[in-house]
Amino acid sequence: MHLRVFAGVALACALLLGSGTNAYAANAASAPARINVQLNWKHQFQFAGFYAAIEEGYYRGAGLEVRLTEAGEGSDPIDAVLSGFADFGVGASELALRRARGERVVTLATILQHSPLVLLVRKDIGDTVHSLAGRKLMIMPHETELHAFLRREGVPIDRIRTLPHSFDPQDLIKGRVDAISGYSTDEPFILRKAGLPFAALTPRSSGVDFYADTLFTTETVLKRDPARVKAFLAATLKGWQFAMDHTEETVEFILERYSRRHSREHLLFEAAEMRRLMQPDLIEIGHINPGRWQHIAGVYAELGMLPKEYSLDGFILDPDPRPDLAWLHRGVAAAGVALLIAGVFAFRQVRANRVLQAEITKRTDIEAKLRQTNQEMTEQLSEIRSLQSRLEELAIRDGLTGLYNRRYLDDALERELARAQREGHPVSIALIDLDNFKQLNDTYGHQAGDAVLKSLSHLLAEQVRSSDIACRWGGEEFVLVLPNMPLSAAAERADGWRARFGEGGVRFGEFTLRTTLSVGVAAYPDQGTLPAQLLRAADEALYRAKTAGRNRVETAGAVPTP
Ligand code: GH3
Ligand code: MG
Ligand code: MG
Repeated sequence: MHLRVFAGVALACALLLGSGTNAYAANAASAPARINVQLNWKHQFQFAGFYAAIEEGYYRGAGLEVRLTEAGEGSDPIDAVLSGFADFGVGASELALRRARGERVVTLATILQHSPLVLLVRKDIGDTVHSLAGRKLMIMPHETELHAFLRREGVPIDRIRTLPHSFDPQDLIKGRVDAISGYSTDEPFILRKAGLPFAALTPRSSGVDFYADTLFTTETVLKRDPARVKAFLAATLKGWQFAMDHTEETVEFILERYSRRHSREHLLFEAAEMRRLMQPDLIEIGHINPGRWQHIAGVYAELGMLPKEYSLDGFILDPDPRPDLAWLHRGVAAAGVALLIAGVFAFRQVRANRVLQAEITKRTDIEAKLRQTNQEMTEQLSEIRSLQSRLEELAIRDGLTGLYNRRYLDDALERELARAQREGHPVSIALIDLDNFKQLNDTYGHQAGDAVLKSLSHLLAEQVRSSDIACRWGGEEFVLVLPNMPLSAAAERADGWRARFGEGGVRFGEFTLRTTLSVGVAAYPDQGTLPAQLLRAADEALYRAKTAGRNRVETAGAVPTP
């Protein structure tokens, strides 16, 4: 138990963490931070790295003032650090057990890559674990790896006579016990000096490969000042690198400033044995392999010291923790939210625009359709008006000849007489009747009669003034209203029509139809002031023309004024 001595300086790790150290040093240069370190044994080469860091000024350079505290027999460095008595401590594999049980220790660097804990057995009783059955062994209850070793080798502890540890190798040398637990770095030096043949049995031979001296702190210390933890770690590892590179010089420090409990020779033995367990040429000083800790915890579980479910999360310091990206995540999240909001607004805007556009398009379509409908309706209205006007026209026109019909004449005659009365001018009417028309129909057929009717109508339409009104009165009788024309003038004009009609012939197939007409003329106001009076007067004149031999014009006599 007294050979817990190492050497070594962790230059590589110091460089790894150097930036943190420098930054911390810059901040703390004027006021060194006091650091308490709880060792797990007494001053010897086991803690060479700490001495070297102090002596070489690595701590001071990092703004740290480090105080080292030796452990007494039975004292627990883990408790010392957990209680806050110390900031850092040196512990062994039991750290994994404590962490798995929920105690918030954090390992920073493992100095001894393999545990120096061995069973030192007197050669005279044997050189295997099995030779211990029924023998006296001084062992500590917390030396778990040794208990696991015995168990794995099929030598349960209850088959061995265990005794409390005296920490005095003389008990083995003198034969008071058959075996003791001890450090390969320490007791063997004394046993060899005493000339005792012995066997050093390591648990590694049965696959139990524990870590030993490990620098640790607590989550509380780490969270309080991670930069300080890093600075301390870097300076310590740098000290270890120095110690392993300058073993003799370091041994002199120890003898001169810390302890003369061990001789120079003893300390050099310890340094050599530590070098074997550290392998600083192969393994970076302080290196921690998480898999090794899992293995260690597994052995504890195997011994029933841990439940099947346990966690070592957070047990090992992340030397290069990822930067806290929480702010970035928050920023990204905020930007995401902003983008989302903007997106939602944009989406809504786009959607609103689309809706608006759709509405505009719809309304434009409707407008276009309305315009089209309007145009169509206008056209239809115009057509209707045209039809209406044609209907109206048809209503006042004779279908066969195209002249005004009798219904129109009645209205027109009344209107013209009223105007003549207002304006004081005469209005004549001429009543025309085709001569012997029944005979023509009978001879040539009704269609021939129609042809004659059309021919006369055409002649009359041509001859009348724009103010005159020509109408088919019915059958083969026609009436002409001649506004502002006295009786004599009317009779004269009527005679001209008669002459023209009588001279011409009407072509009907191979025939030329020749016929004549008779006319009775009367005038407003002399022959009547009312339509019926005038028509009757004209009819009487016509009758006289017929009786006088036809093909002539007769005027009505003046009606005696009442
Ligand atoms: P008058 O010289 O005395 O007038 O002898 P008329 O034969 O003309 O006399 P009447 O009034 O007796 O005969 C009229 C004839 O006119 C009878 C009918 O056959 C004919 N008529 C009447 N309307 C039409 C018509 O639309 N088309 C044809 N083709 N003939 C018609
Ligand atoms: Mg007639
Ligand atoms: Mg007739």
